[in-house]
Amino acid sequence: MAESLSLPGFVNAHSHAFQRALRGRTEGDDFWGWRDAMLALAERLTVEQVRAGYLDVYREMLGAGYTAVGEFHYLGLAEAHAAAEAAAEAGIELVLLLSAYARGGIERFRQGSVAEYLSQLEAVRETGVRVGVAPHSVRACPREWLEELGRYAAPESLPLHVHADEQPREIEECVAEHGVRPIELLAETGCLGPHTTVVHATHADGHELDLLANAGARVCVCPTTEANLGDGFVPVQALCERGIGVCVGSDSNVRIDPLEELRELEAIARRSAGKRNVISPSSLLCFGSDEGAAALRLERWDDVEADLGHPSLVGVETQDVHAALVFGCSAEVFR
Ligand SMILES: [Zn+2]
Repeated sequence: MAESLSLPGFVNAHSHAFQRALRGRTEGDDFWGWRDAMLALAERLTVEQVRAGYLDVYREMLGAGYTAVGEFHYLGLAEAHAAAEAAAEAGIELVLLLSAYARGGIERFRQGSVAEYLSQLEAVRETGVRVGVAPHSVRACPREWLEELGRYAAPESLPLHVHADEQPREIEECVAEHGVRPIELLAETGCLGPHTTVVHATHADGHELDLLANAGARVCVCPTTEANLGDGFVPVQALCERGIGVCVGSDSNVRIDPLEELRELEAIARRSAGKRNVISPSSLLCFGSDEGAAALRLERWDDVEADLGHPSLVGVETQDVHAALVFGCSAEVFR
């Protein structure tokens, strides 16, 4: 048997497993058109379909080298339990980031109050599943909800994950409603701290990046999904210059390949900067594992083995293997 190289397993810090079913669909002119298709799919999923579908997706993630996943879940409480069962059966570490959703979307996404949301979160937590607080977005949660959720998460040291700045329209709507941008609103409402992970931050401006850096918050970038949805380019270099922790997620699961996420992240940085080697391969691999684990407050997760006899790695010098993984391999080198 050919030699293998052991690496820390990849941590998928942001997944909506059910969206894997949309990967071959092309309708929707833009993000908002895609979102309509996503809502139509979400509306008709049963608990049994969630249980079975998530098992397949989590097995696929494990095969691709992800050994832990943060499932950002907004399909309902029974479906949250089903997701946790699927993860346990697949054998992937799970943190259930239960979404708080006050307005918009469809009925099954929403809770009637923060108290109802917190009782759902506690119900999941009581089963021994690791959880995180996840106000869906400033679109879905009004200011009062954000304030209450921030107050709840901080003393519990729970991870707090929230989508922000993925699309220009979301920023315009936030400015119209609150007079500030999404990450500014998160700071004002106590939702920005060292346990916070902002998902996307694609269109964050300099002040928002300063707020993230000052709070010690992280950003989860989901490059293959952001490309697929036409979101734009995350300001990778500006994040790194400010020392903001970066992790990655497969998000819509259009692709399940941590190496592709990392390669695309560096490709964005190179295209933007007009130069090579913006982020080192070792930093990129750290984004893919340790930073994701920190975002989920996960201390233990399984390693993964790269097959050095795989055609993608044969002949690569030992000192170049990490770079070759990021720039010259797909997830099929993992076993
Ligand atoms: Zn998402």
